[in-house]
Amino acid sequence: MQNKTITELAQGLRSGEFSSVELTSAFLGRIRQYSSLNAYITITEELALQQAKTADARLATGNAELLTGIPMAQKDIFCTEGVKTTCGSKMLDNFIAPYNATVVDKFNSAGAVMLGKLNMDEFAMGSSNETSYYGAVKNPWDVNTVPGGSSGGSAAAVAARLAVCATGTDTGGSIRQPAALCGITGLKPTYGRVSRYGMIAYASSLDQGGPMTRSAEDAAIMLQTMAGFDPKDSTSVDVPVPDYKSGLANSLEGLSIGLPKEFFGEGLNSDVAATLEAAINEYRKLGAKVTEISMPSLKLAIPAYYVIAPAECSANLSRFDGVRFGYRCENPADLTDLYTRSRGEAFGKEVKRRILMGTYALSAGYYDAYYIKAQKIRRLISEDFKKALSEVDVIMGPVTPSTAFGLGEKMDNPIEMYLSDIYTIAINLAGVPAMSVPAGFAKGLPVGLQIIGNYFAEAKLLNIAHQYQQVTDWHTYIPSHFE
Ligand code: GLN
Repeated sequence: MQNKTITELAQGLRSGEFSSVELTSAFLGRIRQYSSLNAYITITEELALQQAKTADARLATGNAELLTGIPMAQKDIFCTEGVKTTCGSKMLDNFIAPYNATVVDKFNSAGAVMLGKLNMDEFAMGSSNETSYYGAVKNPWDVNTVPGGSSGGSAAAVAARLAVCATGTDTGGSIRQPAALCGITGLKPTYGRVSRYGMIAYASSLDQGGPMTRSAEDAAIMLQTMAGFDPKDSTSVDVPVPDYKSGLANSLEGLSIGLPKEFFGEGLNSDVAATLEAAINEYRKLGAKVTEISMPSLKLAIPAYYVIAPAECSANLSRFDGVRFGYRCENPADLTDLYTRSRGEAFGKEVKRRILMGTYALSAGYYDAYYIKAQKIRRLISEDFKKALSEVDVIMGPVTPSTAFGLGEKMDNPIEMYLSDIYTIAINLAGVPAMSVPAGFAKGLPVGLQIIGNYFAEAKLLNIAHQYQQVTDWHTYIPSHFE
């Protein structure tokens, strides 16, 4: 049952093969059985069973949606009314959200079942899920390796069949990178496509929520529910939402694919490169034309991001002051002591590092030298994407330089950790959509292929990923011990 896709489960629920309560109970059982993966921060068992019951009643009326009764889980960055919402931080360990994120409301109205809240890097800052206050998540393909981050709990849960699908968020790669390292399908939509209302902010001009699933078809179904204009989010874009499933079967004959030479140079592991080459060959067989392109500003993405994202985070995280939200230190001597100790005691090392970097970059003497310069680079990167995507339909490349690395391996070397997002970060700076699709294995660990498209080209990306999944079976592999 746990290996079925959303479409297959929706059929099973309609034919009476199983009920949502049965399905939900099975997933709750697996979550308990595999708790050592540490994928969940909170399990909402009672709520899930109640939602499953309601879903069964709705299914019986014949007025159900594809997601009705499907057990899924939310990254713990999305506010869930009445349910603890931690963002992976001690700061919010006692925070019960008083309202739902728009995305959560949308899944609720579709009748989806929420199994719980998924582990993540603290405030979504990280690439390995090791900065979480709740401890590292393990990669189900090899429990001595990281699942990627920051949506590491989401990726591990979907790969290990502890949820049918999950939400993630991506500021610099946090949907695509863990999807690649855990062998699942992940989509970062165009900036503004999915509402950020109630999604705890890291770097507001980059953050975007999206689906993490086992197949492109499942991602299409999830995105259908998530996407759309939201008046509560001022950066939400009022562009009509297409029917994502209807274009999945389109032929790829004549599709033009650009491979930026900057993506395939030094730094890319040779096993990963060989796997990607085979994947791109499949696209040739499907009728695509492949050309090499150049995007010279890609190499500036990491330094620009590590000025812009911390700058925005230093502003966003100023709201956690021990007064209004979350953690407050014991017996503060005065107001300054309250601020200093509450923040000092509740934020982890990486979050503090980002706040310091961001505050520095925004300070009067350095603003022009760092922040303004980074914004100029961001513009150059967007121009590179605009130009490339006027020459080819989509861009393809790696998601990560290597497969999953060992737990603890990069924790003492932040620069090396930052470099694990070298192929994903530019996409956020430009705001275009991109996917990670399972493309094979290197020494037993999953490799992801990245597909990048133009603004609002999610339907095209899903079509391209789906066609590949019709002729390959990489997305159907299950990590052993989790069958
Ligand atoms: N790893 C990147 C960072 O730490 C991206 C994180 C994300 O996309 N949320 O900032």
